[in-house]
Amino acid sequence: MSVITIERKVLEKNDEIASQNRALLKENKIFTINLVSSPGSGKTSLLEKTFEHFSGKVKTAVIEGDVQTNLDAERVAKYNVPVVQIVTNGACHLEAKLVKDALESLNLKDVHLLFIENVGNLVCPAAYDLGEDMKVVIASTTEGDDKPLKYPRMFLNASVLLINKIDLLPYLDCSLEELKKNALSINPALKVFTVSGRTGKGVKEWCSWLESNIIK
Ligand code: MG
Ligand code: ZN
Repeated sequence: MSVITIERKVLEKNDEIASQNRALLKENKIFTINLVSSPGSGKTSLLEKTFEHFSGKVKTAVIEGDVQTNLDAERVAKYNVPVVQIVTNGACHLEAKLVKDALESLNLKDVHLLFIENVGNLVCPAAYDLGEDMKVVIASTTEGDDKPLKYPRMFLNASVLLINKIDLLPYLDCSLEELKKNALSINPALKVFTVSGRTGKGVKEWCSWLESNIIK
């Protein structure tokens, strides 16, 4: 049996569980985002700014995926947001089964918006459906403007692109226009927001969009 066949079987099983997750989340009217990016692009900081903006007005929960440690979960929990930590013990992506188990620890009746913060990695998280409504990919300006061309599958499978750390643009050789152009050349349907997790710029627009997607 070839490696490709094995991987494919794993994915089929994953998709089956992802469908179950999706049905459960739909039943509970939860808008779910699978947040993906490379390590250090600012997923957790952006979540913090998002919770600051909502200041408890939107019932939100977080599933935190990390290779090791619960540092990010601790940061999120400070905002009084229910958070479930998944430690993958070395695995570089989340799978639907892990999310299924995490969902059992949440009071879904009391959640309208769910963030699944995936493990920092732009490769395999693109291939794993977790049952989310959509993938949101974060690319920070510090990573350069060619990320979409290097990791096309992630940008193709995402519905939204958050360009983060725009406050650092004056100090970098990254062109915002080039980054947007590269991302849209891979996926013309991408909705793009420019944000700064440090200054909070653009967070209002991002949050308004989130609110417009919450199922009333
Ligand atoms: Mg994080
Ligand atoms: Zn992986």
